[in-house]
Amino acid sequence: MHGIASVPVRELHGVGPALASKLAEYGVHRVEDVLFHLPLRYQDRTRLTPIAAAQEGADVVIEGEVRAADIVFGRRRSLVARIQDGSGTLTLRFFHFSAAQKHNLQPGTRLRCFGQVRRGGSGMEMYHPEYRPVQDEEVPVSETLTPIYPTTAGIGQSQWRKLCAQALLHLQREPVQELLPPSADYPYALSRALQFLHAPPPDASLALLRDGKHPAQLRLALEELVAHNLSLHRLRERQQHEGAPRLPPDTNLLRAFLASLPFAPTTAQARVMGEIAADLAKPVPMMRLVQGDVGSGKTLVAAGAALQAVGNGFQVAIMAPTEILAEQHWRTFSQWFEPLGITMEWLSGRSKGNKRASALARIASGEASLVIGTHALFQADVAFARLGLVIVDEQHRFGVHQRLTLTQKTAPDLGRAHQLVMTATPIPRTLAMAAYADLDCSVIDELPPGRTAVTTVLIDNSRRQDVVARVAAACSEGRQAYWVCTLIEENDALQAQAAEATAAELRLALPQLAIGLIHGRLKPAEKEAVMSAFKRGELALLVATTVIEVGVDVPNASLMIVENPERLGLAQLHQLRGRVGRGAQASHCVLLYQTPLSANGRQRLGVLRESTDGFYIAEKDLELRGPGEVLGTRQTGLLEFRIAELPTHEHLLDDAQVIADTIRESYPALAEPLIQRWTGAGQQFAKV
Ligand code: ADP
Ligand code: MG
Repeated sequence: MHGIASVPVRELHGVGPALASKLAEYGVHRVEDVLFHLPLRYQDRTRLTPIAAAQEGADVVIEGEVRAADIVFGRRRSLVARIQDGSGTLTLRFFHFSAAQKHNLQPGTRLRCFGQVRRGGSGMEMYHPEYRPVQDEEVPVSETLTPIYPTTAGIGQSQWRKLCAQALLHLQREPVQELLPPSADYPYALSRALQFLHAPPPDASLALLRDGKHPAQLRLALEELVAHNLSLHRLRERQQHEGAPRLPPDTNLLRAFLASLPFAPTTAQARVMGEIAADLAKPVPMMRLVQGDVGSGKTLVAAGAALQAVGNGFQVAIMAPTEILAEQHWRTFSQWFEPLGITMEWLSGRSKGNKRASALARIASGEASLVIGTHALFQADVAFARLGLVIVDEQHRFGVHQRLTLTQKTAPDLGRAHQLVMTATPIPRTLAMAAYADLDCSVIDELPPGRTAVTTVLIDNSRRQDVVARVAAACSEGRQAYWVCTLIEENDALQAQAAEATAAELRLALPQLAIGLIHGRLKPAEKEAVMSAFKRGELALLVATTVIEVGVDVPNASLMIVENPERLGLAQLHQLRGRVGRGAQASHCVLLYQTPLSANGRQRLGVLRESTDGFYIAEKDLELRGPGEVLGTRQTGLLEFRIAELPTHEHLLDDAQVIADTIRESYPALAEPLIQRWTGAGQQFAKV
């Protein structure tokens, strides 16, 4: 490689060893890498806005004279300054401030401020604007839109801006190397696109940029999607190369298992089980995603796969994202597999001391055929004697790399374990293509017979008493109900508190009912006791946190109240709602929302009222929230694009696929540098 691609970032002014090592954490080693660290969004500081023309909601630069600055003791103590230009006045409001700050806002001082305009108690206001005093001589405004870079602690915005400005100077001397195959059709030249995105001219359309639809963004998004496609393909090829144990179907074991069930598999289940059985019989690792709506019976499909591996003398690991879901699987599989003489082992974060040590020993010796657990299965000291199959439930909470780490936890001469990934969140086609290009896909598109559709209504919290009365009426007829308390925080303690408070309120309002409470802070035995009391019908109403999202199966429960549904994702709500409608009775779900509900919130909840089709709901969720939220991947880094966004750039996916195919066929030398450029994580892929 040559030119700008080979200039180390250390050659930029101001980059010493400390900054260089921080940059390395971002995958930035060379000047070119700086250019591919792309802004998240932009601010317009290229013009001064007269105060009178400042629109509510806009980020603007204003300049004026301080008329007064006072500390106000309202609901919250704040520092309030009135600032005036020739056109009008505006209030600056600070909730956190120092004495020095007040001192600096002496009447008569000229200030230049940047911030968002909002309507407040005293007309137009800015909360915590950036500001600085200006002298009489004209201080120029910015010449370009101001880029805001993705960053976490360690490197500030101004530092990124300085680095990028220098990198652009390099770019002007020498363009970056074009890595896509020659074609006249790309929307923008690569170097021009980079130049534009780091320093958009004042007349650039902020609206296009915000929506990710500027041709410069499209050009880079296309390239990024190509790189992503190439890297997933390569990952897959490498795994195919490693081989996997051949696991031909064990028809006797499967027949014995199916005969023990009170029902027969649905057509869809049988089809998907057949697809999996064929994969497992091959000497290459299966990489299959099973999508199926809530209640479609994925567990049975997983069991069929597990039996095939166990029947061939191999171990199976089933991993779930939460303790509760893992426990649910433990109960189901104990019931199904113990009669067949299959030995099982449990491993979660709570397995400690001797118990954990002996579990590890039974896993390592091969004594345990089926191992069920949580993330704890990833830990370095977990080793299997003969791992043949990894089953991951609720895939979207795990990253590609986590998943792959698990498949290689077996004796090296056995190759890689097969993997089966199950998701209850139906993934829209576009996302599946982008995020799971490394997986084959099966869909369970049919629910077991005898399910009734759930009617969903939206009721605002001022009518809470009506809802409580409705619960009382349903329970007095012998039906059972869930009351789900939600908080966005993943914090068990806060969730538990909220649920406890609601349970207390409902016990007071409904003294005639037996009311149970379940949340993530209870000990497994306590949860188990509450759940089985509810299952036996000894409890009429179960107050719960979202822990019951998964794993609870009580056909007599036909009413669910969800508090603050506006805080949850549609897919999660759909999952929750899937807990009712399991019996023959007409079922209802009440979404008890807080007012005021935003327009977007109303629209989102409306989708649930309209539809019980998980795929439709997932598509809408993606449209209204964006993929990071839908997949829950913000933390796992599964779909962290730098510039591409779905569904905004959905229309580029097909092109990206064609270009990636062309590269694989005719320009294979381009693949590695493209992957390097965009994932900056060649080393990460090499590890798995
Ligand atoms: P999910 O796909 O949401 O994981 P589960 O595997 O938990 O669904 O199945 C939901 C319920 O449906 C369970 O009670 C299960 O026993 C039942 N079930 C699964 N398959 C069938 C079937 N073919 N016929 C009847 N009930 C079934
Ligand atoms: Mg399930």
